[in-house]
Amino acid sequence: MLGYFILHLLTAGLFIFVLSQIVRNQKINDIEAEMQSVAFMLAGHIEDLENGLEDEALVGHLKRLGKLTNMRFTLITAEGNVVADSVKGTQEIGPHGSREEVLIAKKEGWGFTQRYSDTLRVNMMYGAQRFDNSNRNIGCYIRVASESNKINSEILEIQMFVWIFALILSLLTSGLMAIFSMRSMQPLTTFAKAVRQVGIGKYDSTLAIQHRDDEWGALSEAFQQMQTELNRREQHLLENTQRLEAVLSNMIEGVLAVEPSGEVMLANGAACRMLKLTHPEIFGKKLLEIVRIPELAQAIEKTQLQRTFSKTEFKTFSGTQKTLKARVSMLANKDKPGVAIVLHDVTELRQLETMRQDFVANVSHELKTPLASIKAYAETLRLGALHDENKNMQFVEQIEFQAELLNQQILDLLHLARVESGTNTFTITDVKINQICQASYDQFAKIAVERKLDFQLDLTHPSPVIAADIKSIETIVKNLVVNAIHYTPENGSISILSYVNDGSAVIEVRDTGIGIAKDQQKRIFERFYRVDKARSRDMGGTGLGLAIVKHLTQNNGGSVHLKSQLGKGSCFEIHLPLKNE
Ligand code: ADP
Repeated sequence: MLGYFILHLLTAGLFIFVLSQIVRNQKINDIEAEMQSVAFMLAGHIEDLENGLEDEALVGHLKRLGKLTNMRFTLITAEGNVVADSVKGTQEIGPHGSREEVLIAKKEGWGFTQRYSDTLRVNMMYGAQRFDNSNRNIGCYIRVASESNKINSEILEIQMFVWIFALILSLLTSGLMAIFSMRSMQPLTTFAKAVRQVGIGKYDSTLAIQHRDDEWGALSEAFQQMQTELNRREQHLLENTQRLEAVLSNMIEGVLAVEPSGEVMLANGAACRMLKLTHPEIFGKKLLEIVRIPELAQAIEKTQLQRTFSKTEFKTFSGTQKTLKARVSMLANKDKPGVAIVLHDVTELRQLETMRQDFVANVSHELKTPLASIKAYAETLRLGALHDENKNMQFVEQIEFQAELLNQQILDLLHLARVESGTNTFTITDVKINQICQASYDQFAKIAVERKLDFQLDLTHPSPVIAADIKSIETIVKNLVVNAIHYTPENGSISILSYVNDGSAVIEVRDTGIGIAKDQQKRIFERFYRVDKARSRDMGGTGLGLAIVKHLTQNNGGSVHLKSQLGKGSCFEIHLPLKNE
């Protein structure tokens, strides 16, 4: 609006300037013509005078005429001398033949100039008319002068008038323009607001101009449709993304999508857990810079070069070591495609494989030892010891002992295999643990005495009751008591305790035996693991007792805890959940 207003004023200014020039020129022309006609009239009058230029009445006449017309009249001879002047005396003026207007009049008959008058000290217009005598010689010049300032003030008046007019017109038109433009811009403002809303994801703006009959109405109708469509698509996209996220985050397999440049585009929770990555931080970073796994780098390169999928297996080194299997496939059919990586955690599988291999090796080794002893004793007997009455019985007893060991080992193995495979049938009944402790005590009390061991029973009353397989609990207590007897030297003491702790029934088997070193404590629950192989074997141990204890306890919903100090004794705690009343 301001621009429009200024433009108006500039135009008005230009107009006023041009108009002033035209008016000025017109005025000057008019005055010039008036001057000339007055000069002619004066010439006619001079001719009528008795003495012509020398007539005495002439000066008075000029002065009168000057007052009437507001002009100045000067009579100049052909030689340039002033004969009479309506304002000043002839002596004061001096010769005027060299004045510009006089020089022009000399040549052309009429001369007109504008300049500053030194005599009157104002801007003047001068017109000089040449009059010839009857001999066709120059008779005289009549010079008429008028002040320019008068014209200027007239023009200023006109200019003032036009300026005021232009100003009022500008204000009026600018105001009208403002009203019109505001009215025509209003729908645009509404649109701008609605578009801004769409920009921040809000699609529910209703346009007030929607029901107009003009183009704005049609445009807002289309805009409304666009909003609805955008909203629908965004919802659709959102649902798809949520579905995809739900699927990806619930997958056990790790999924990664990598850009052709190697930057991570997508990674689900499982992939982050497997590769030990922090979820939002990996996006936009190069995968191989974060994980540095050569096998994975090779598989990605192979996929990108050969345009086929590739498989690899590798171990991660951060935190607990994991074995991961990766399948890398192409994402898009470009020169250098991005890749999708699916990761499977095969740590347990590989561990099981290793365990199976170790187990077979262990079993063969364990069974070979008593068999080798049996073979050796039998051979010794055959080679003559059979008739050695001092030794033969001892050898046969050894064969029996080793055969029993072999038998026990096979029985324990079968038992463990059944428990581990889940084919062992458990009959869950209410089990009073005091009863089992008591039975075990009764069974081994005699042996303990034989071995000079102090055997104690310390039970809580009433007996804690658990819902469990009674045979399992019997085996657990039996194995622990047997171990306590085996690994406690003479004069030591053993005790079986029962009590309730933190909602669990606890059976404790304590001894003051050889104890177990800290680093061995976890391993003794492994199959065939013995701290001292020879001692265990001499005792008739199979190396499977604690493995069976651990599995049976777990299968009955409990846990085993061990507290032991080397050389001071051991304490095995079996925690089993109390039966719900
Ligand atoms: P074993 O038949 O050899 O006793 P177990 O599985 O019962 O096999 O025990 C594994 C190993 O744990 C034993 O060889 C022994 O070294 C150690 N161990 C078990 N119980 C005790 C205990 N009460 N005191 C000291 N060491 C024990």
